[in-house]
Amino acid sequence: MHANSHSGRVAVITGASSGIGEATARALTADGFRVALLARRVDRIQALADELGDGAIAIEADVTDRDSLVAAAQRVQDELGGADVLVNNAGVMLLAPFTSEQRAEQRQMVEVNLLGAMTATEVFLDQLRDGGGDLVNISSVAGRTARAGNAAYAATKWGMNGWSEALRQELQPDVRVIVVEPGAVATELVNHITHGETKEAIEQFYDATSITADDIAEIIAFAVTRPHSVSLNEILVRPTRQQG
Ligand code: NDP
Repeated sequence: MHANSHSGRVAVITGASSGIGEATARALTADGFRVALLARRVDRIQALADELGDGAIAIEADVTDRDSLVAAAQRVQDELGGADVLVNNAGVMLLAPFTSEQRAEQRQMVEVNLLGAMTATEVFLDQLRDGGGDLVNISSVAGRTARAGNAAYAATKWGMNGWSEALRQELQPDVRVIVVEPGAVATELVNHITHGETKEAIEQFYDATSITADDIAEIIAFAVTRPHSVSLNEILVRPTRQQG
């Protein structure tokens, strides 16, 4: 890391209260970014902002609530001078067989993972365009590999990949669009699965396989600190132990 080499750049991270988002906030702060931490659990992002210092701010925001994102963008503009990087990281992975009819959870995944990222991007886009920014979309191996039991989650991540590629072409050369597709990463993500059998199987897989949120955060930080002429469009990163 090159401390302070990106002093003055501002990164907005959705889902910064835990896991990959929290780790990314730490990595980007170490690289000299000022960060705006967005999530619903305001106590967690406030504690992180206090710890990071250096202009870090915590903003309570739900990516399914456009008004809260508009208010967040206003604060980023007023307090930090606008966003240079937006990391669309907020997400849920409520895996279950499609036939288990968990309709509310399927809908929540689409609303948070896909529509939430689209809304945050639409709201922050003028700030990103102003001076040449980066859009980092956290997709998944599940955005390239569909399998029985992850239909709705895979739909959100395949959707994110298609949307991101179209957006990359539309926004270049002003804004770089960078898609990151992690495999199993040890975070709170699996804790929220409600389908018992699925949860047990995924926990076993994660216990045996996962890499850390810091591993992914370092890759995000690397991607956004390349010269603007270089665009790492798509980064698929599995634990070496992960087969599919
Ligand atoms: P975590 O559960 O640790 O983090 C998820 C984050 O999303 C939390 O900060 C949570 O904050 C936030 N979030 C959830 N719903 C909303 C909402 N409606 N509005 C705003 N924020 C929300 O999991 P990860 O760090 O693993 O997940 C981060 C991203 O990485 C997700 O998009 C996930 O799909 C992706 N990913 C993760 C992998 C893994 O194996 N862990 C693999 C591939 C991709 P809060 O609840 O405070 O709002």
